Formats: sequence, C-alpha cells, structure tokens
Amino acid sequence: MAISSPLPAASSSPIAARFATVRADISAACIIAGRDPRDVTLTAVTKTQPPEAIDAALATGQRVFGENRVQEAMARWTDRRPLHPDLHLRLIGPLQTNKVREALSLFDVIETLDRPKLAQALATAGQAMGLAPRVLVQVNTGAEVQKAGVAVVDAPALIEQARTLGLTVEGLMCIPPADEDPAPHFALLARLACDHGLDVLSMGMSGDYLAAIASGATHVRVGSALFGARDA
Ligand SMILES: *Cc1c(COP(=O)(O)O)cnc(C)c1O
Repeated sequence: MAISSPLPAASSSPIAARFATVRADISAACIIAGRDPRDVTLTAVTKTQPPEAIDAALATGQRVFGENRVQEAMARWTDRRPLHPDLHLRLIGPLQTNKVREALSLFDVIETLDRPKLAQALATAGQAMGLAPRVLVQVNTGAEVQKAGVAVVDAPALIEQARTLGLTVEGLMCIPPADEDPAPHFALLARLACDHGLDVLSMGMSGDYLAAIASGATHVRVGSALFGARDA
C-alpha cells in the first residue's frame, strides 16, 4: 500500500485550476480558428478580488491584469508592482478626467478612451509626465445609452483626434449588449479596427471569450471564469 500520495499539482488551488482551464480553452479556440495562441493575451480581471486571489493568480505566472476603478486598482497593485517588474495593468473601466494622472501612473494601457475631452486630458497629462499614453478606443457597438464607449459613427473622428494629440492608439475595445449574440458586435469592432490599421482587439469576457477569439480578439478580459462569481 502506498504510504504517501503524490504531491498535489499547482492546480490543486481552485484559482490555479481555473487559470489552467481558461488557458487551455484559449489555445484550443485559437487552433480551431487557425490562429497562433501567442497572439491572444489573457487579461485577468481582478476587480473586487481579495488579496489571496490576486496572489494565487500571480503564482500561476499570470502577469496581465485588468481593473475597472483607478482607486481600487491603486490599493491593490501599488505595493505589488515593484515585486513583479513584468506586471502589465490595463484599465478597463470608465475614466474620469480628474483621475487621469493617477491612471497613467499605474496603468500600462487605458482601454476606455471614449470621448474627446478624455483624449485631451490624457494627452495633457502624458506631456506633463513625459510619456505617450497607450490607449484603446472603447466603442459602444450596441448603441446602449447606459454603456460607455464612443458611438460607432463617431469612432473614426476620436481615433484621429487621439492620434493627432500624440496618444498611442493601439486598438479598440467593446462590451457587447448582455442579451444579444456578441458575434456581430465582435465582427463590427474587428472591421473598424482593420479600417483604421489597428492591431489590438480587446473583446470577450467569461461568457463569450471563445466567440471573441473566433472573431479575432487579441485580448480577452476574463474575471469570473478565473476567480469564481463576484458578489453582486
Ligand atoms: C468585469 C469586466 C470583465 C470581466 O467580466 P467576467 O464576466 O467576470 O469575465 C471584462 N470586461 C469588463 C469591461 C469588465 O468590467
């Protein structure tokens, strides 16, 4: 009779197991779509997560994280940042112009540029801080009144303005309406990006990241599939 069981694998923690599953699913979706898995980045969305969950994610080797709120992200990441020089933080929630400096001091990429006034504020703060902010333009593909994002018809002008102001526009981001098939929204975002020579497509969340990869997503923003359901 065996006197000891094998050492538990790293995936014995529920979070590590979910990371492994999501990463495997991403790779499979890429192969089905004829894409290189290295062309899709998993952004782990850590909003509302406790410190243990963050540390479990870091322990799996995850380094790209998305956060919704500047203040909450500062509390969570300011002390961890120096410990992980390869950390990469992306702001995926709405940004107020009065938080732009803080946001630029913490985040590598702002995914939620959605209005001219914010483009101007990012450019001004970037100049003062000696950096060229990296941004995605968030597009409200479903034309939902309650949702952030520039209207599809206004997206070209905002992209142009941001470029003229010296922002580094890397791509586009969208959050499709919750109650619709996301595929047409992903396709619309992909076409807009192509029209403007943009490479980065941040689209797809826990419920639809596989569909997003099929439509060309380069960054999927996954929260609950990695960390479990959030408290409402
Ligand atoms: C919360 C959030 C996500 C992650 O959502 P899940 O459904 O938990 O994967 C992705 N993108 C944005 C903009 C979010 O606010």
